[in-house]
Amino acid sequence: MNFPIEKIIIDNRVVADELTRRILKNSSHIPSEIVTEEILNVKTSKFSFTEGKRILAVTTQNGEMVKPCPGTLPPYICCQYTVINQITQCPMDCTYCVLQAYLKNPFITIYTNLTDIFQSIDKLLETQPWRFFRFGTGELSDSLALDNFTGLSRDYAEFFSTKKNALIEFKTKTDSIELLLESPTKNVVVSWSLNPQIIADREETFSANVRDRLKAARKCQDKGFLIGFHFDPILWVPEWESLYYELIQKLFSWVDGSGIVWISMGSLRYPPVLKEIVQKRFPKSKIVYEEMIRGLDGKMRYPRPLRVEMYKKIYQWLKEKAPDLFIYFCMESPVVWDQVMGTHPGSNGELDFWFARSLKERFPFLDMDAPQFDKYVIG
Ligand code: SF4
Repeated sequence: MNFPIEKIIIDNRVVADELTRRILKNSSHIPSEIVTEEILNVKTSKFSFTEGKRILAVTTQNGEMVKPCPGTLPPYICCQYTVINQITQCPMDCTYCVLQAYLKNPFITIYTNLTDIFQSIDKLLETQPWRFFRFGTGELSDSLALDNFTGLSRDYAEFFSTKKNALIEFKTKTDSIELLLESPTKNVVVSWSLNPQIIADREETFSANVRDRLKAARKCQDKGFLIGFHFDPILWVPEWESLYYELIQKLFSWVDGSGIVWISMGSLRYPPVLKEIVQKRFPKSKIVYEEMIRGLDGKMRYPRPLRVEMYKKIYQWLKEKAPDLFIYFCMESPVVWDQVMGTHPGSNGELDFWFARSLKERFPFLDMDAPQFDKYVIG
């Protein structure tokens, strides 16, 4: 996919880094500029979030880039995912994107110190060798949107292919899988966020159309990758029922359900401060005008009866297509789990355990040393 990147700014401390050279080689058609760290910092304050989406900044990060997913506060249940924040900001522009309220630096920023990331991951894996870890690069950006520049999918796929107790998930709304298709498949999950096309057209600017996402998923599956899907955020529109039903039919016409490693569901939620940002940046979007309530974690959500109604239908349609699917909620309450699935994990640790158990049972070829189930804290 081609995004309207207009400029690349390089911190002079990383000019000689391998990743910088790779990015420059893959973007020779885009003007670039080398600056000092101080000037880079000054520049970040001079551009808006929207302008920043057209500028790549290549620099280094002294802080930790491998972290537990911030998730949300109890009583909502989170899955103990680990995020890798090597890229922040995103060239796509979804109306509901929480990064609009979260990121201070408007540039799409790529940190070149990949070795530090790999060292952090190795250290983490050593501390809990009994646990099966799920890592993802799609928290503060899209995992594959910039892959044509960075080629990072291959670095990560090669790194994780040797691990016994971890996998990496590339979460995307693109069909940028060319490099990935030449990479090792072991311990790699490629996943797509999905919304009906009519919603994607209105709310997910510059994303690949849904058919192309599913076509890419098929190719990844044929190649041997595990694939996943995220119905997140589910957006209420008057015709949601027919739209999501058709989307699920389309999904299973493209891929084999038995190779889907997981599917998540989560409805629209956002910190209250996002409302004004969306109103300003996307005056045509209606997403912030539906009835919302403030949840116990302070985030705005649809009222519970509406969330449950939507989840129940989507869950039922998914299970009709593939009864063995592992389906989970992102940031939902135990009550919602119970009302939709008839059960809920007793803790975030238990949900983490459910993931590991499902992977071990459904995909024995993963050759996992972990998990050692008796060591999980699931109370
Ligand atoms: S693809 Fe994800 S990270 Fe990018 S703008 Fe959309 S929601 Fe934000």
